[in-house]
Amino acid sequence: MALLIKNGRIVTSTDELEADIYCDGETITRIAPRIDLPSTVDVETIDAAGKFVFPGFIDPHVHIHLPFMGTYAKDTYESASKAALAGGTTTLIEMCCPSRTEEPLEAFELWCSKAVGLAACDYTFHMGVTRFDASTEQQFRAIVNQGISSFKIFLAYKGAFGIDDTELYHTLMLAKELGVIVTAHCENETAVFERQQALLTAGQTGPEYHEPSRPPLVEAEGVHHLMTFAQLTGAHIYVVHTSCDEAIQAAQAARYHGVSAWMETVVPYLVLDKRYAEQPEFEGAKYVMSPPLRDVRHQVVLWDAIRSRLISTVATDHAPFDFRGQKEMGRNDFTKIPNGIPSVEDRVNLLYTYGVNKGRIDRNTLVDSASTQAAKLFGLYPRKGTIQLGSDADLVVYDPDYRGTISAATQQMDVDYSAFEGWPIEGRPSVVTVRGQVQVRDGQFTGTLGRGQLLTREPTHF
Ligand SMILES: [Zn+2]
Repeated sequence: MALLIKNGRIVTSTDELEADIYCDGETITRIAPRIDLPSTVDVETIDAAGKFVFPGFIDPHVHIHLPFMGTYAKDTYESASKAALAGGTTTLIEMCCPSRTEEPLEAFELWCSKAVGLAACDYTFHMGVTRFDASTEQQFRAIVNQGISSFKIFLAYKGAFGIDDTELYHTLMLAKELGVIVTAHCENETAVFERQQALLTAGQTGPEYHEPSRPPLVEAEGVHHLMTFAQLTGAHIYVVHTSCDEAIQAAQAARYHGVSAWMETVVPYLVLDKRYAEQPEFEGAKYVMSPPLRDVRHQVVLWDAIRSRLISTVATDHAPFDFRGQKEMGRNDFTKIPNGIPSVEDRVNLLYTYGVNKGRIDRNTLVDSASTQAAKLFGLYPRKGTIQLGSDADLVVYDPDYRGTISAATQQMDVDYSAFEGWPIEGRPSVVTVRGQVQVRDGQFTGTLGRGQLLTREPTHF
């Protein structure tokens, strides 16, 4: 059935206009000040008066299937994609993260198998390069040929996902050759390891010591390290989850010298700070992720960097681990607390409430950072990331008058806590569509599981 969205205020990364949107099948086919259809046309009409119409939001950094630190992240594609959609996110880019002993092609097929037939929103993957040698290189070439045009590397997590400098160099050379952008977790793994050991030896075992074990300098060193290798190889790089002033400055300095580098931050850093991880009774474990939550002074820098579009994207690094039974694995040793703050469901509402409504960013920047830039950087634009003729009809009718609170009791993410428990939100998607079909109404999933498609992406030949 066709879809007509009437009377809304369309917001893209650059413009706003009052217009109706007509979607024939899966695609936007008409945008006009007023579209009236003959009554013979079979169409679902949504009245968006008083509401904004945003392009479907894209979260370019999530974990769903994630074997990590001796356990598995909680979500399946069912819970994660329902949660994403409830919060206005219509495309997920998941990190495919094999261990160093797994074969990349087998891992890629495994990750795909978790999504196919279950995902309610569209999805694609950044392919994790966690081991680089002659054998895996051939497999990465094959994976790129299957439509995966971005890699993920870790300069952290020694012995688990982390690669050494020889592998880093050759991964970037391959990426440059193939036109693949490399996303990277930047922290100096040796410095982290040594500081962790020193803290534990001193009996400093609680979650409040997670941040001191990997301070801003450790992240900035990782960024600078990556920038150096990118400058030497000419590869295009994307720093994931940038958390602090020092890391931003390291990337900015490289950009000034011509390095093709982009930055992502994630929503927890914008609204939470390290005091949350310092709460007593192990409560702080809910707030352990890497890089860690920082001193509150970094929030101002991050918001300003988004507003000036120095930081391109706001993702989540969604990685849900229950407090009971999973975070608790690190009760006597903060290095054993599974890392992650679940937020795929809350990202857009938090950005709207604490960014747009607080005057930190405008609505165009919200769309740019949470949708358009991810589409452009990762080969999805203009199919995704904007509202224009020919784009997929992934649309978010957003109600700015909604008032509610975030709670684990009502969330769709499959995890036993919310890092934002009781927080007020001012605004919520009232209707969310995926390629022309309504999947969410008023926060509730009303659509079809398995509707989501794997999005294949062409390399960019730069
Ligand atoms: Zn991540």
